[in-house]
Amino acid sequence: MTPTGFQDAVLAGLAPDGGLIVPAEWPDFSDRLKDWMPLPYDELAIEIMRPFVDLPDDALERLVRESYATFRHPEVAPVAPAGDRFILELFHGPTLAFKDIALQFLGRVFEYILEQRDADINVLAATSGDTGSAAIYGLRRKPRVRIFVLHPHGRVSPLQERQMTAVIDDRVFNVALEGTFDDCQRIMKSIFGDTAFKERYRLGAVNSVNWARVLAQMVYYFFAAFRVMERTGGDAVQFSVPTGNFGDILAGYYAARMGLPVRKLILATNENDILARFFQTGVYERGEVHATLSPSMDIQIASNFERYLFDCAGRDAGRLNGWMDAFARESRLDLSDMNRSDLLVAGRGDTSATLDTIRRVGEEAGMVLDPHTAVGVHVGDALRDPEVPLICLATAHPAKFPDAIQQATGRTVTHPILEALNDAETRQEILPAEEADVRSYLEAHIGN
Ligand SMILES: *Cc1c(COP(=O)(O)O)cnc(C)c1O
Repeated sequence: MTPTGFQDAVLAGLAPDGGLIVPAEWPDFSDRLKDWMPLPYDELAIEIMRPFVDLPDDALERLVRESYATFRHPEVAPVAPAGDRFILELFHGPTLAFKDIALQFLGRVFEYILEQRDADINVLAATSGDTGSAAIYGLRRKPRVRIFVLHPHGRVSPLQERQMTAVIDDRVFNVALEGTFDDCQRIMKSIFGDTAFKERYRLGAVNSVNWARVLAQMVYYFFAAFRVMERTGGDAVQFSVPTGNFGDILAGYYAARMGLPVRKLILATNENDILARFFQTGVYERGEVHATLSPSMDIQIASNFERYLFDCAGRDAGRLNGWMDAFARESRLDLSDMNRSDLLVAGRGDTSATLDTIRRVGEEAGMVLDPHTAVGVHVGDALRDPEVPLICLATAHPAKFPDAIQQATGRTVTHPILEALNDAETRQEILPAEEADVRSYLEAHIGN
């Protein structure tokens, strides 16, 4: 393993050997928590990020302040009580999903690094929905960045499609492939695998394994724990996290590692429950991908999970490689003998649990949950430790998923940002789901 600085890690996305990048050392923040409690969101973010970055202080401060000034709520990520739990609202960013918290920051970090190096980058991303718009809004209007987003034509929700294709900027390219999300992802990975092409066209990635995204996500665990401790006078909390790629909950696991008093981290999946099964049995085994009401969690292989397994392997990269190779060969990895931390517990919520929870929390607390959040609340309610407050992460605004809300409650939810898209002009390029077509498209729009 070769050491990498923060800036190189952010630009590269992956380590040169194809593995994921993790900090060499973890700071212990336990004795800072009291001082940090009164800080507003952006000031707290600066304190938490500082030990991890090789950016000058004034640059870090400016990037963080600008990133969170784009949020529509003054607290950025406010915490609201709902019945006997708390809801952490992570959806006040430009695209109404929690991915904005990381991608608003990542876009600005990219811009800063490219300025310093007098370089430019062409970001290639594949999306099944939320990531595409959050990446576009994080990277648009950055003179040194072009962004190409592949989505499966006609297979993202009409709203999600409009959120992406209504951005008509010179350096934003929406490419709809006539295939599935898996085709988009396969083509993207194959293009990144061609190192010569990747270098020639200066391709970069913003997917959920990018270290800057995990770093930015650690902040709201601290921020929410502080808000709830202030209200309840307690000295510990627990979180429930609706999970797909394991990026969000990984940040919570790291926050706990650094001294945040987290009693339990409750991992919630929908029917795509490979991770829930792992935490229940110790066996990591691939299943079929099911389409659900919470599409951003319709994932079988969670790309960030390897970072957690690295810790389980005692930070022994050789041992981890052995596990990952075995899993790639057999689609199954049995770690039931290993000591798993009792911090993480997991469960699943299916379609009927999702709809019931939306209905129930609506009636009990007058709050409309989006279907991803509802999965988290369902599992959180079932697995919580009764002694400490439960904070459920709300990962999207309900108006992004109006069909599920309609099905659960018979009501329509809207948001002015989404309504404004109804008659917006849109632009996208429709291509066959063939790698050669995507390559030619990139060549034609990047130049040398
Ligand atoms: C991406 C996403 C998730 C899953 O987050 P991971 O980091 O992939 O676990 C959950 N809910 C919503 C709304 C999302 O967009």
